[in-house]
Amino acid sequence: MTDQPLVERFNLRSRLRFNIETGQIWLDENRMLLMHAKAFGALRQQLWESLGGQRAKGLLFRMGFVAGQNDAELAAKLYGEGDIYDVFKIGPEMHAFEGLVRPTIVEADIDWEEGTFFGQVHCENSWEAESHLQLFGGSDEAVCWNMAGYASGYVTQFFKRVIIFREIKCTCCGDECCVLEGRPLEAWGDDPFLQHCVLADGEDTRFEDLQAELWQIRTDRFEISPRGKLVGSSPAFSAAFDLLAKAANSPITVLLLGETGVGKEVFARWLHENSDRSDKPFVAVNCAAIPAELIESELFGVQKGAYTGAHASRAGKFERADGGTLFLDELGEMSAAAQAKLLRVLQTGEIERLGDDKMRQVNVRLVAATNMNLQQAIAEGRFRADLYYRLAIYPLEIPPLRERKSDIPVLARTLTEKYAPLYHKTIQGISDLAIQELMDYDWPGNVRELENLVERAVLLVPSGGEIEVEHLFPGAGQSLQMGAPVDRHGQVGNASEAKRNQLYEALLEGDFDLQKHEARLLQLAVERANGNLTHAARMLGLTRRQLAYRVKQARER
Ligand SMILES: [Zn+2]
Repeated sequence: MTDQPLVERFNLRSRLRFNIETGQIWLDENRMLLMHAKAFGALRQQLWESLGGQRAKGLLFRMGFVAGQNDAELAAKLYGEGDIYDVFKIGPEMHAFEGLVRPTIVEADIDWEEGTFFGQVHCENSWEAESHLQLFGGSDEAVCWNMAGYASGYVTQFFKRVIIFREIKCTCCGDECCVLEGRPLEAWGDDPFLQHCVLADGEDTRFEDLQAELWQIRTDRFEISPRGKLVGSSPAFSAAFDLLAKAANSPITVLLLGETGVGKEVFARWLHENSDRSDKPFVAVNCAAIPAELIESELFGVQKGAYTGAHASRAGKFERADGGTLFLDELGEMSAAAQAKLLRVLQTGEIERLGDDKMRQVNVRLVAATNMNLQQAIAEGRFRADLYYRLAIYPLEIPPLRERKSDIPVLARTLTEKYAPLYHKTIQGISDLAIQELMDYDWPGNVRELENLVERAVLLVPSGGEIEVEHLFPGAGQSLQMGAPVDRHGQVGNASEAKRNQLYEALLEGDFDLQKHEARLLQLAVERANGNLTHAARMLGLTRRQLAYRVKQARER
């Protein structure tokens, strides 16, 4: 069936979902908007009036470009399901599917190997031309800038080469239909539109920079955080960060509190790197990872011959951190003996190696951390109260991730950028649906859990692709209710239909016998109608005669 529309052949319709309960429309993992063409038209008009024609055209073009790029990625996912040229041709159909225009490719001269391209597309029912006619009247130049941008973005993304479409005929100019022509950027020469509209801000950009410029639309959406690795701008996170920043340039002992995985070590490192000790060592010790009998020698060092097996003298972490910062993580796990020694170091500023009688001066800024409730540990006699008061001069609670969910998109993006090069991947970003799933999750393991998930997703995503739900939560199935599908006549399904489908699915799972089910349904309908065959037939969508015939047949079986 070659004349079957590609959107049907690739079953794109099954990827379009309406979820009325959550107020979301999804096309695959992209969130879509069902907007009034009039509203979009009004925005378009406002752009013209407030920014002038040149800039408005450029903005509309680039907006279309992003839409085209996203659809090209969706098309690329259909690879393997069909011929590459068919997959390519799905772009114009998607544009029609989304209701913006009905394009038909009339000429396509593509050499995938050589990278040459010439294309001509006839476009009917351009919403943009209609809107322009309504709000501005006719025009002596083509007006479908957004449409041209879409075609350019789609082909550029698909072809991995900058291909620009220009509109050479437009219904706004009195032409029969709008016509787009696409060529590689350099083939358009010194076109003023390309110079001033396509290139951001029309600056003196060379052709070589354009590729990078165009990709930037997608990749550099956020500024790099001035907080370094501490990523976030939610109120809860910002409050914690402000406290941290105030402590940076002082020797004050800081006690970091918070659930496991909130990023205590990252906070401690930031504190060190932004203090006047930043050129001195930062030494981190995880007290829970060291056996109780070794913690003292680890922290304070050993003198040769202190115990059997102490063949050489060794400096402890305190000495190694001299002049710098010592980070003691999981402080609550420390033994009573170690607690007593730590207290003495804090009081005197001197340490004593195991088996040594010499006191050594150390200048260490201490940052301690725990996820334990220390007050409770004190009440239960597991932690020294006097040590607690020494350490808790400047307590700082780091919020759990579920209390700073607005930071998740930026965090996930930052982590993606961190891991992509480690796995030699180019990643286009994270899908809208994947972000939504990340936002809906409660993160008991906090930022560390998010980091693990993103790292695994980076490993699983194909290079050049976008991180999707299945990469983040493999095998979890679709936990999100994406909503009802649309049938081929454009009817949106509804919840009761979905329920009915579930019922049919369940029926098919057992030993299915259509005749038995039919007989049972007929019987039920007749019972409900108190034996009135006319009513029962109406219930079943049959005529009375058809019902009588079937009942008779069922009885004879
Ligand atoms: Zn047009």
